[in-house]
Amino acid sequence: MRILLMGPPGAGKGTQAARLATALGVPAISTGEIFRANVEAQTPLGREAKRYLNAGRYVPDNVTNGLVRERLQHSDAERGWLLDGYPRTLAQLDALDDMTASAGQGVDAVVALDVNHELLVRRLTERARTQGRDDDTEDVIRHRQLLYREQTCPLLAAYEERSLLSTVNGEGEVGEVTRRILDALSSKSARPAG
Ligand code: ADP
Repeated sequence: MRILLMGPPGAGKGTQAARLATALGVPAISTGEIFRANVEAQTPLGREAKRYLNAGRYVPDNVTNGLVRERLQHSDAERGWLLDGYPRTLAQLDALDDMTASAGQGVDAVVALDVNHELLVRRLTERARTQGRDDDTEDVIRHRQLLYREQTCPLLAAYEERSLLSTVNGEGEVGEVTRRILDALSSKSARPAG
């Protein structure tokens, strides 16, 4: 199964991606995590990505697309994958279409986590306190939310048009949210094609 997990910063994508990957037996591929690991290891990619991450800006599409294209070629991605935090721009959506078309395997489902704005801010502020991520400061959080609304929200409409989108309530207990997502995915795959 090939799944996209979308939603604003703080919606719980990373947490749910890990749980879903285990439940579905596919790798969870998080562009944000890959960037952070590269920043940590001070690789050339990390050195390039760092200033974007710290400013809460999107890493340029050509860099992100190249990274995902390469990652999807690993053998563990043959059976399927779950992408967390990609695509985030229309150019990335096009690039992903291209990658999946050349592999003859399109996206099966897109899950958008829906969480009200106040709860998002509360979760990110709490994460700032407990995990100390460099991009969880107030100004940067605000900028990441803005980018999501302006650049990433339009992708939801595009996937809705393809009848791939399920919007899932991301509020409440972690296990409950996972269950809601798995329910949404099974009703999606039970639905006749077209
Ligand atoms: P969040 O969803 O809370 O922003 P992530 O860990 O998914 O957290 O992403 C952290 C940062 O990594 C983003 O603010 C951005 O700088 C970079 N990033 C992640 N995914 C992408 C992407 N698809 N395109 C561009 N930049 C990305």
